Amino acid sequence: MSGLTASCACGAVTVTVPRRPDYINDCNCSLCTKLGTTWVYYAPDELIVDETGLDSFVRSDLAEAFLRTFRCAHCGCVTHWRLIRPYDPPRAGVNAQLFEPGVLDGIEVRLVDGRSW
Ligand SMILES: [Zn+2]
Repeated sequence: MSGLTASCACGAVTVTVPRRPDYINDCNCSLCTKLGTTWVYYAPDELIVDETGLDSFVRSDLAEAFLRTFRCAHCGCVTHWRLIRPYDPPRAGVNAQLFEPGVLDGIEVRLVDGRSW
């Protein structure tokens, strides 16, 4: 097996990554909390996205939004995000909730206090 695939609930959008992540970020900021997402990170060009029926969102409550979140236009699951501003190192996030149960077992979960930033 090469790679791991995250899939929205209806299966229209899939994101495939090349390997297990080093850690999972569980962030308490208003966006992550409301989306119900936790995140794993890769270099932007490591994501293989089947973009059938993809919709996206950029938050407007920040002076400078850094990322665009993508979601399935059919079932609504948020699948991943991509940067819309330069960031070092460049990276992209995949919703860790969308992998099959057990796939990410044993990987460190890091609690991130994004709400205080
Ligand atoms: Zn879907």
